[in-house]
Amino acid sequence: MCRYKIWEIDCLITVHQKAGVLMSIATPGALTVIMLAASAIFCLIVLWLYLHHVLQHSESNRETTIRELTDSLSDGAFILKNDHFIYVNPSLCAVLDYSIKDFKRMKWQDITTVENSGNAAQLLKELREGKRREFQAKLTGVRRDGSKILLNVTAKRVSSSGGGKLYAGTIRVASEPSAPSDQPGTDPMTGLPGRLRLRHDMLHEILDGGAVSFALILVDVDGLTRVNDTLGHEAGNQLLILAAKRLAACERDHVYHFQGDTFAILLKDISRAEAERHMKRISEEFTGPLSLNQSPWYESVTMGISFFPDDADNRSQMIEHAEAAIHYAKKVSKGKYQIFNPAIGRKMKKQLELEMDLRRALSRDQLVMYYQPQIDLRSGTMQGNEALMRWVHPNLGVISPSVFIPLAEQIGIIEEIGEWALETACRQTKIWNELGFDFRLSVNLSPKQVLQDNLADLVRQTLRKTHFPPQLLHLEITETADADLLMMARKLGELRDLGTGISIDDFGTGYNSLNYLKALPLTQMKIDQSFIRKDYYNQHNTALIRTIIALAEELKLQVVAEGVETAEHVRFLKQLHCDLAQGYLFGRPLPAASLLSQIPLINRQITLASLDA
Ligand code: C2E
Ligand code: MG
Ligand code: MG
Repeated sequence: MCRYKIWEIDCLITVHQKAGVLMSIATPGALTVIMLAASAIFCLIVLWLYLHHVLQHSESNRETTIRELTDSLSDGAFILKNDHFIYVNPSLCAVLDYSIKDFKRMKWQDITTVENSGNAAQLLKELREGKRREFQAKLTGVRRDGSKILLNVTAKRVSSSGGGKLYAGTIRVASEPSAPSDQPGTDPMTGLPGRLRLRHDMLHEILDGGAVSFALILVDVDGLTRVNDTLGHEAGNQLLILAAKRLAACERDHVYHFQGDTFAILLKDISRAEAERHMKRISEEFTGPLSLNQSPWYESVTMGISFFPDDADNRSQMIEHAEAAIHYAKKVSKGKYQIFNPAIGRKMKKQLELEMDLRRALSRDQLVMYYQPQIDLRSGTMQGNEALMRWVHPNLGVISPSVFIPLAEQIGIIEEIGEWALETACRQTKIWNELGFDFRLSVNLSPKQVLQDNLADLVRQTLRKTHFPPQLLHLEITETADADLLMMARKLGELRDLGTGISIDDFGTGYNSLNYLKALPLTQMKIDQSFIRKDYYNQHNTALIRTIIALAEELKLQVVAEGVETAEHVRFLKQLHCDLAQGYLFGRPLPAASLLSQIPLINRQITLASLDA
């Protein structure tokens, strides 16, 4: 395709036009000279354009060839502009475990240890100031995971560009001083190579180019927690050993025990279709029973896969992407597999960003307490409030606790957030009560908080700090699948000793509700809103509510009905002698600043509901 620029074509036309004009005014002798000169100029211009065209093409071809060459080097190669990376080859990404994108955000000094970064900066400075033409140095590099690696580095100043200085260099691994454990190793329990060996082998594949491409499959054994909880840890270990044998029988080589209940498989030079066949075969292999404690045990596995170099250009990213794929597969349904794709990557990125934001939410004052009134159905008065947390995200708006509380549990910051919630709610209620109210307060505890070592101490200190009377506080707990009820009973007993009430929240939705009632020192039961809310309120559910309230009466537990939305609900609950009601009929959760101004409206709703009765 002809790629002459507009101005070049303009130039050709102008030469022709000028020759024509000259011809119209000149004598015949002079005309010949002018014609010759004009065609010579024309030829020169065409030749120049041709050369320009050819040169441009060969330059871009040359650039492509050079890039292909450097990309395929087994040594790390880089180009710096000033002290920023503007090019790195895949080998350098592999050695330091950063992606090309990461490098583009990094400075030269960032790849070395803090102790070394002064030295690294000095070397570059000497190149910049012309004190050296090039340098060869040993530097201690730092990988993404913080492990150190000794590097032989050479660099040279190459040319200047756009005011910036360019340096090109190579990096070769000298040794790995601080990672003696990062040697190939075998996991003693399963007999399979472990995670470090996997990372080592992946690096080897990437660096030595032994394979053009490879796939990493992560395989999660779905039921390990269940086996540990029901049959004991010995059986759990047995399950892992049997799973390892099955996988090794399926794949022969390159099966690793990645961590806990996760195995990994490396497949070299493999197409997506072939890799999928491997995963199907593994799934099928696990449909047959395993023998655990001399009994048949049916186990499923969930898999996630990522491909090099399509999905990632370094080991950590390969692993992250395979993990993201597993995570995604598990959300859909256990026992399946998922191939990584950019949409999963984007979701993962969003999730990570949300996690990062949540970690900072508390220190940035983005968490807010809302309060929802609870109404005493006997006296027809507002008895107090349940404190419900909100996260006011600067870009995403108000985020529901059903979204961020599980996330806070997952990333291990629930205790910190829970502590803040308790203190804030006690402090606020104390302020209201000093104004003449006599509000009780309910605060939710996450199951993780209940198991916290120092829970009772923490509650005691908070009550003391805020001067809040324990008898006005109810702590709400919810059911979890693998609760240790004995331990919970002990912890909750300590809270009862402080004088607080303990409430079982969302009663009727878990599958362990009766065991909770039997084992724990409860004072209150909250019937889950899914029995009462308008959209669920039917004959079937009213029969269940009747039974639950009768049960609570027998056990001498105070009953709170959640999700009270209509006067009919109130009438029905009053008939059954339900103690308290909470729901949109009386008021939605409100920020502290709005609650007092809403009290007349809440009272009006109470009156209207009682009139109906
Ligand atoms: P929960 O403790 O069962 O709180 C009741 C939930 O039902 C609240 O949702 C409330 O807004 C909603 N609700 C109340 N009345 C009605 C009604 O009439 N109709 C309907 N449709 N919904 C009603 P919210 O505030 O989104 O909280 C959701 C859950 O998040 C809470 O359920 C609780 O388990 C958890 N949570 C909230 N705040 C905290 C906290 O500070 N700490 C912990 N660990 N968990 C919290
Ligand atoms: Mg609650
Ligand atoms: Mg509830």
